[in-house]
Amino acid sequence: MSSDVTYPDVQLHIDGVWRDADGGKRIPVINPATEEEIGTVAHCSISDLDEALAATERGFAIWSRTSAFERSKLMRKAADILRERANSIARLMTLEQGKPLPEARMETLAAADVIDWFAEEARRAYGRVIPARAPGVYQLVIKEPVGPVAAFTPWNFPINQVVRKLCGALAAGCSIIVKAPEETPASPAELIRAFVDAGVPKGVIALVYGVPAEVSEYLIPHPVIRKITFTGSTPVGKKLAALAGAHMKRVTMELGGHSPVIVFDDADVQAAAKQIATAKFRNAGQVCVSPTRFLVQEKVYEQFVDTFVTVAKAVKVGNGLDEGTTMGPLANDRRIPAMEALIADARQKGAEVKTGGSRIGNKGYFFEPTVVTGVTREMRMMNEEPFGPLAMLLPFSDFDEAITEANRLPYGLASYAYTSSAKTAQAVAHQVQAGMMTINHLGLALPEVPFGGVRDSGYGSEGGSEAIEAYLNPKFVSQAGV
Ligand code: NAD
Repeated sequence: MSSDVTYPDVQLHIDGVWRDADGGKRIPVINPATEEEIGTVAHCSISDLDEALAATERGFAIWSRTSAFERSKLMRKAADILRERANSIARLMTLEQGKPLPEARMETLAAADVIDWFAEEARRAYGRVIPARAPGVYQLVIKEPVGPVAAFTPWNFPINQVVRKLCGALAAGCSIIVKAPEETPASPAELIRAFVDAGVPKGVIALVYGVPAEVSEYLIPHPVIRKITFTGSTPVGKKLAALAGAHMKRVTMELGGHSPVIVFDDADVQAAAKQIATAKFRNAGQVCVSPTRFLVQEKVYEQFVDTFVTVAKAVKVGNGLDEGTTMGPLANDRRIPAMEALIADARQKGAEVKTGGSRIGNKGYFFEPTVVTGVTREMRMMNEEPFGPLAMLLPFSDFDEAITEANRLPYGLASYAYTSSAKTAQAVAHQVQAGMMTINHLGLALPEVPFGGVRDSGYGSEGGSEAIEAYLNPKFVSQAGV
């Protein structure tokens, strides 16, 4: 891997130009593994946003008239560029976000696959012909891009969170302003650079960083912007959706979760525990679809706990650049007190911490993989998204009890189940209220399948053919006399 990559001072990209912010404001970027300042990121002002909006409007005029065939070609070229640069981009991501280098590389390469998939989908944004009631009448449904998009993305998957929004918009013929995460700015900037270098016309993509609330409060109501897409916490999502609603803007919201895992006693318990425990600690649990509440049928509960704890203890926590690290630090200092508070509350209410539970050292935001049993519904961790390496295990006696617990919280993003019974699998898939469920394996988040939640986890999809529909308006045209 390229160890010679130095972390940049990240710039904005507006109207085809990489540049600093008006007024020159910059804020530091911190490496969460060392707490050292590794670079800075430009912080936009309102005048930068005005320029981005004007450019994006011009970009929309160009891109919406560019043929789907041409758009698709440029997107595929960007995917190839991203693949070529994956090693150095992954290194930037690990430096700014903390995740192990192989995970960062995988995220970058997976983004190239997302681009390819959307590039293909761009050429298949079909309309339709509806049989008319009268002779000589043609009834057509034409799919038109909604217009310029404002996208807001978080720091947990710096590239993946951007690429899905960017590609949905570009495939549909929309221009886009991306407000990428200030804490992890360099790797998403490299994603945008791949598109710029591939030849996407200026004005089609703008990249800004700034004070999130200031940027969203300016862009969402702005008449140029026609669609909002946000990934982040439920409280912020509700605020932005309300603002978008007040201005009648189309919205996609990919918000928090508190994913249940239901393990029935007819499952291969050993294999299930190993697989799902490994998934728990990926990206230090800072994943919206992270498995969190592990509901295990009584007969196999002890066995599941033992295996899960063994996996947790084997996780190698360290600097993501070090060979063999399987879990990096938390991505920012806020996550440490957040985790500590949840664990202290559970302990005080009688939970047992089977392993972990504390910060590691005092340099870098490292936290132990943590497994808690004896949890009750009164504990904060059973109600609030932990967004960290924290697993709660609890037994259940029968199917109905498991479903009631799975559906107890207002979230509805991902869910997981393990069973060898086809009947149980079918019942659990129908009865758990969630946007996604995988049974007996992990199969979420591929570009070609829907990705999104229900209830407080948001609405809209960032995968599958639904993801491009989110950026298209159907226009009905009825024509007679031809
Ligand atoms: P936060 O709620 O302050 O911010 C979450 C994200 O929203 C960040 O990217 C932030 O920049 C952005 N944001 C915040 N206020 C905004 C505003 N007014 N306008 C536009 N964007 C805004 O929380 P945090 O401390 O950064 O992260 C912790 C929580 O956020 C987690 O507990 C988790 O629930 C949630 N989160 C979810 C995801 C996800 O993938 N769904 C990703 C990151 C964070």
